[in-house]
Amino acid sequence: MPRYDAEVDSRVCTGARLCTAIAPMAFTFDEAMFASVVRGGPFADDEAVVHAAQTCPVEAITVTDADTGEHVAP
Ligand code: SF4
Repeated sequence: MPRYDAEVDSRVCTGARLCTAIAPMAFTFDEAMFASVVRGGPFADDEAVVHAAQTCPVEAITVTDADTGEHVAP
């Protein structure tokens, strides 16, 4: 079962908040930065994290396999 790490590039994030709607267990919104941030991780086999990275309109989220480092999404 894969485990995922997620990163948000706050310089790219536009604050659309799709990620916090799709995967609220993984992402939260930092009002000070006006950007999404990752709550923690790694996340066990959570397709919502992958879906959030694929849905982010500016590709600010990068998901990697926590064990291999392999790029997963977007
Ligand atoms: S979906 Fe992308 S642009 Fe929107 S808040 Fe999340 S990281 Fe930022």
